Amino acid sequence: MRRGATSVPAQVDQASPSHRRQSPRCGGAPQRPRSVRSPGREGPRGFLSPAGLPKSSASAYLYRDSPEGRILWRQTRRPGAGAVDDNLIIACPHCGGLNRSPRSRLSAGELPTCGRCHAPLFDGRPTELSSAEAFDRLVGKTEIPVLVDFWAAWCGPCRAMAPEFEAAARSLEPQVRLAKLDTEAAPDIAARYGIRSIPTMILFSRGQEVRRQSGAMSRSAIAAFSGGASSSV
Ligand code: ZN
Repeated sequence: MRRGATSVPAQVDQASPSHRRQSPRCGGAPQRPRSVRSPGREGPRGFLSPAGLPKSSASAYLYRDSPEGRILWRQTRRPGAGAVDDNLIIACPHCGGLNRSPRSRLSAGELPTCGRCHAPLFDGRPTELSSAEAFDRLVGKTEIPVLVDFWAAWCGPCRAMAPEFEAAARSLEPQVRLAKLDTEAAPDIAARYGIRSIPTMILFSRGQEVRRQSGAMSRSAIAAFSGGASSSV
C-alpha cells in the first residue's frame, strides 16, 4: 500500500492506463496481458509438488488453476491428523495382500478393509499361521507390531490361554496384530526362533524380534507385554 504511493510518480499514474505502462510502445487497442485468462475459464489440474510447501504439509496437494490464480482444492492430509499422515503397510490376514493404511486412521481405531479381497484387515481375532510362507508374509511385511503365540494343539496351557489371547486381540487391534503359529504345522519357523517350550510369545516390529516370554499369560499380561510396541514402530 505505502510502497505504490511513494515509488510511482503521480503524473505517470494518471496519464497512462495500466496496459500502457506495461507496454509503452503499443499505440493500438489495449491488449490483454497474456497471463490473464478469460473469466470463467479454468486451467489444468494436477498434483502440486511438496517442494516449497511448509514442512507440516501433507506429501501432495491437488491444485486447480483458475482466473484468480492457482488454488488448492483438495489436500491429502486428513483434518486433525498429525503433521504428516504416513501410511503403514498391513498384510491381509486372509489373502496376504499388502495394504497401505494411514497411521492416523489406525490410531483412531478405524478398521480398514483389504483392497484385494475386501475382507476386514482386523476382525478382533488372532490370525492363524500354519506355514512358513504365511508367517513371513504377515510378520515380515506388516508395519505395525505383530505379537505371535507359538503354540500346539496338544499343549494344555496353550489351549487354556487361547481365550485370553483372543480377548487381547479384540482390545489391542488395530495397534497390534495378534497371530498364532502352530508349531506342529510350521516346525521350521519354530526352529528358526529356537522355541523350546510352548506357549511362547514373541513380539515383532517390522519383522524383527523385540522381546519374548514363555508361559501362559492373562489378557492384561498380554496387553502389558505388547505395551510400548506402537511407539517403537
Ligand atoms: Zn485380503
